[in-house]
Amino acid sequence: MEELLQKIKNVCSSYIQNGKVATYIPELAKADPNEFGICTISLDYGISGVGDYKKSFTMQSIVKAIILLRALEDKGEAGVRKLVGVEATGKPFDAFNYSDQDLKSEHINPMINAGAIALCTLIDGENYRDKFQRLLDLTRKISGNPDLDIDEAVYKSEKATGNKNRALTYMLKAYGIINEDAEEVLDCYFRACSIKVTSVDLARIGLVLANGGNDPITGERIFDKKHAKYINAVLMTCGMYDGSGEFAITVGVPAKSGVGGGIMAVVPNRMGIGIYSPALDKKGNSCAGIKALELLSKELELSIF
Ligand code: GLN
Repeated sequence: MEELLQKIKNVCSSYIQNGKVATYIPELAKADPNEFGICTISLDYGISGVGDYKKSFTMQSIVKAIILLRALEDKGEAGVRKLVGVEATGKPFDAFNYSDQDLKSEHINPMINAGAIALCTLIDGENYRDKFQRLLDLTRKISGNPDLDIDEAVYKSEKATGNKNRALTYMLKAYGIINEDAEEVLDCYFRACSIKVTSVDLARIGLVLANGGNDPITGERIFDKKHAKYINAVLMTCGMYDGSGEFAITVGVPAKSGVGGGIMAVVPNRMGIGIYSPALDKKGNSCAGIKALELLSKELELSIF
C-alpha cells in the first residue's frame, strides 16, 4: 500500500501548481502549498501513510460531518431535518430564477456554511462553550486522538474576518431558521473549523464512518449505524460543494473537503482516507488531494458505483 501511495504522491505533486492556498482567512495563507500527505486506514491492511501525513492543519469544513453527527446524536433525524435539508441545490426542477425566494430550511444542507452554522444550535449544552466542548469530545473520540484541540491563531483569524459567515448567520435569523445569539453560534462554528488534525486523524474518522459508526480498532460502537448512513449519503451528494457531481464520477465515494487543504474520504466497509495538500481549486477543494483520490479509486476500485 505504501508503495502505491508513494507512486500517487509523485504523480500528484505536479497538480499542486493548479491551485492556491486559501487567503480569505489570513492565517491560512501561511500554509506551504508544496506539502502533501496521505494516509489510509483499511479494515484489511491497517494503516499506511506517506509524505506529510503527520503534519497537522485545521479541519475547516471537514468538521461539518462531525457537527451533523453531533446534532443527529443529540436531536435525532427528525430534529435535524426540521432545521436543515439534505438537497444539494434545494431548488425545484424548473427553477431558473434563484434570487426571489425566501430562505427555508429545505434550501440549505449540512455541508454548506449556513447549514452547519444552523446545526450548531442543535448541539446539547447549557451554553455555546459546552456545545463546542461536546463537539470537540466527539471529534477526539471518533478520531481516537484525545489530544485534538483548536489552533488558536486560525480561530482568532477567522473570527476577526469571517463576515460572510456573519451575514449568513443573520440571514438564518432574519428568516426565522435560528433564534440564537449570532456571535455565540458563530463562535462555536469558528472554533469547530479550527480543530487541528493530521491525515491520520481524518483517515480514522473516515474509517469509523465506513464501518457504520463502530470503531474497528477498539471494537467500540461510537454512534448509531443509521447516522453513519445519513452522513455518508449527505457527504456523497454535497461533501465536495459544487464539485460533488464531478467527484462522484471520478472518485465515487463519500468525502468532505476543507479550505485548510484536508479531505476525509469514506470507502464503505473498506477504509478511511485522510489527505492534506493545501493548494485549492476554485471551488475550495484540494487540487492534488482530489487527483490522489481519483488515482487511488481507480487503482483499488473504490467507487461505490
Ligand atoms: N471556516 C471556513 C469558512 O467557514 C470553512 C470553509 C471550508 O472549509 N470550505 O469559511
